Amino acid sequence: MDASEERPHGRHMKVRCCIVGGGPAGMMLGYLFGRAGIDVVVLEKHADFFRDFRGDTVHPSTLQVMDELGLIEGFLKLPHQRLQKMDGLFGGAPIRLADLSRLPVKYPFIAFMPQWDFLNFLRESGERFPSLKVMMNTEATDLIRRGDAIAGVKAKTPEGMIEIEADLTVACDGRHSLVRERAGLEVEEIGAPMDVLWFRAGKAPDETERMFARIDPGKMMVTFDRGDYWQCAYVIAKGQYDAVKARGLQSLLDDVVRMAPILKSGIADVKSWDDVKLLTVAINRLKRWTRPGLLCIGDAAHAMSPVGGVGVNLAVQDAVATANILAARLMQGYRSEEDLDEVRKRREFPVRMTQRMQVVMQNNIISMALKPGDAPLQVPAVLRLVTAVPWLQGITARFIGLGVRPEHVRSPSAGN
Ligand SMILES: Cc1cc2nc3c(=O)[nH]c(=O)nc-3n(C[C@H](O)[C@H](O)[C@H](O)COP(=O)(O)OP(=O)(O)OC[C@H]3O[C@@H](n4cnc5c(N)ncnc54)[C@H](O)[C@@H]3O)c2cc1C
Repeated sequence: MDASEERPHGRHMKVRCCIVGGGPAGMMLGYLFGRAGIDVVVLEKHADFFRDFRGDTVHPSTLQVMDELGLIEGFLKLPHQRLQKMDGLFGGAPIRLADLSRLPVKYPFIAFMPQWDFLNFLRESGERFPSLKVMMNTEATDLIRRGDAIAGVKAKTPEGMIEIEADLTVACDGRHSLVRERAGLEVEEIGAPMDVLWFRAGKAPDETERMFARIDPGKMMVTFDRGDYWQCAYVIAKGQYDAVKARGLQSLLDDVVRMAPILKSGIADVKSWDDVKLLTVAINRLKRWTRPGLLCIGDAAHAMSPVGGVGVNLAVQDAVATANILAARLMQGYRSEEDLDEVRKRREFPVRMTQRMQVVMQNNIISMALKPGDAPLQVPAVLRLVTAVPWLQGITARFIGLGVRPEHVRSPSAGN
């Protein structure tokens, strides 16, 4: 790793690869490139990973990757909850969406773990790689161009601006990616009919419930048992936040407790609208994931809806595929855009299939549930079928837990 040096217009450093964004895609790719001995820097604009909301689900496909990297033992020692059976209430009728215990894999469960623990764990595990540097508090603000090619980024740090020159820049800066916007990459919007209100309710130590999703006429909610609190996601129709707010906080909390009586005492933890975060949902994807010298992966290439809780895992899978395809070649120097585009060719199909399934769920189940009115809800035929036929719960579990075309770690290790 080249140390940064002072230049008349600010600091400057040169690396083989500059990754913008320290989310699941960026931290996993940084780890894999560091493991391969590639000079790599990961830029994260925040000082830490403690954002109020980040997807918290680690699926069997990601657990398998952690196993292949020899990290699983330490990882599973971190506090987490395990989920195998995805149960819900649809208009009061019990449904089962998936049963992960039917998966023929080493880790047949979803681990619920705060994402900051996952990201911190990757960061700490990567500290043993001398060629990997994670720069927190460092925000990419623009691209460096050399002719048609992207040759790195300009970034803001607490010590002032820095120019980071790189053979390859990877945009892992999420669904509001500045890098893809500056590179002029075109986004295809697919759209989502809902947004999510995200809040925590208190939980007594002995309180427990297997129910995960609840759907009532005009309302939908998911609760996650997070050990000492309930994490709640209350789904609203897109653009309805102001209307929900106008009805008042108490009206929302009354609805919540009617749907999930277990929250009756803990809901007092939600004291004001400051305790309720609006998360806007988007589904989109890039038509082209590359420019010469630049590759986009994770949400920067394809924003995922929360349906199925698969976004984190897809981001990790993108990172594994990127390292598999590019690590050995990158060690030899600059790669052509054609080389970089192999990542899109490998990953576009799983992304499209997953987004397609999310759209089908949105249009057929979520939109129906969120329609205003009190007419009783009928469980859709497909959910009735999955609930009645256990082996179908294995198929849905495969789709959610492993996804389409799961990746395995094949990138080189420099032996640290
Ligand atoms: C409401 C909602 C609920 C969801 N629930 C789940 C769930 O339960 N499970 C799941 O798997 N997925 C879930 N998702 C999707 C999931 O959050 C994303 O798919 C996943 O986080 C994508 O990972 P990423 O690394 O590509 O991007 P991100 O996680 O968005 O990470 C991007 C990182 O880049 C940093 N960054 C941004 N700009 C810059 C810059 N200019 N310079 C430096 N750093 C920058 C950000 O601070 C951030 O750390 C949910 C999404 C939504 C909207």
